Amino acid sequence: MINLASDNVVGASRVVLEAILAANAAPEASYGSDRFSREAESRLKAIFEHDLKAYFVTTGTAANALALAALCPPWGAVFCHEESHVADDECGAPEMFTAGAKLVGVPGVAGKITSGALEHVIKRYPRGAIKAVQPSAVSLSQVTECGTIYTLDEIKALSAVAHAHSIPVHMDGARFANALLSLGCSPAAMTWKAGVDVLSFGATKNGCLACEAVIFFDPAKAADFEFRRKRSGHTVSKGRLLGAQMLAYLQDDHWLNNAKHANAMAAELNTGFKSIAGVRLPWATEANEVFAIVPRRMADAFTKADIAAASWYTESVSLPRDEYVKADEVFLRFVTSFQTKPEEIARVLDVARTA
Ligand SMILES: *Cc1c(COP(=O)(O)O)cnc(C)c1O
Repeated sequence: MINLASDNVVGASRVVLEAILAANAAPEASYGSDRFSREAESRLKAIFEHDLKAYFVTTGTAANALALAALCPPWGAVFCHEESHVADDECGAPEMFTAGAKLVGVPGVAGKITSGALEHVIKRYPRGAIKAVQPSAVSLSQVTECGTIYTLDEIKALSAVAHAHSIPVHMDGARFANALLSLGCSPAAMTWKAGVDVLSFGATKNGCLACEAVIFFDPAKAADFEFRRKRSGHTVSKGRLLGAQMLAYLQDDHWLNNAKHANAMAAELNTGFKSIAGVRLPWATEANEVFAIVPRRMADAFTKADIAAASWYTESVSLPRDEYVKADEVFLRFVTSFQTKPEEIARVLDVARTA
């Protein structure tokens, strides 16, 4: 079977699993005060070229929800893309952990919000107006829900709008490494240098078993975070198992090599699809996700050939204005990973061409 439904259908990399085994060998301090977690935080400081606080959790939902809770009072507003993961795919965790803050959706093609649209929506919530939730955070997904990437100029422009309204910027970096390689910039350039205050640094989808970091570039903003993490049940008692994963992930460019491979596999699939009549790609392939509108018979051929992709939302408001999924078509998402083989991409394209 070839499974490209998501990049979390694959397990952890051997490097990460071996690091977990090695960390398992001897007694170690608990609740995140272990040497692996401390070393991983030091590595992150070096990689981001900035002082920071890093907290490890086991899911991206926890990372996002707890990060937003640290930024946002219960009467706050979080501005995010209307089809973002925080808005649509976290079962209200951001609302719960902020104790009721409102997620305000901002529209935008290809999963991206523009600085103009952001400014426009923020103005609906005047500062000091008792009737309105108060602007408290902007949350950007890098990679976006549509597999696209914000450029550095776009991140800077969005941060400028947020900061002009005195609100911090959170980045949902569930696929941070894929975005980073796509832009070819430094981790610093894509985050704090562009105005990002808090980052959910994803690692699970790109090689870890279950590990994400919440990174505060201003340690002062992290003052209460340990309480929030414990209270949500995300302070892992054998915290070394998270620290060891993150350390292995960052060692010897493992994270970058994994993402580079995943992006290359997606680029190959993208190029192949472009040469096949009847396949339309509504959003640019900029990282490790390929979205394709295909004839139903092609989708059926994939199923028959034991090739799995995710069915995507045909009603997505992120589609370009002149694009829609017709009755005899299916909207599919293919996600490549560090484990995707070139032969698998060739096979998918072969089945598509034959259909
Ligand atoms: C996968 C993903 C997450 C994290 O989701 P979990 O399933 O909670 O780990 C967060 N944001 C985006 C954009 C994602 O794709």
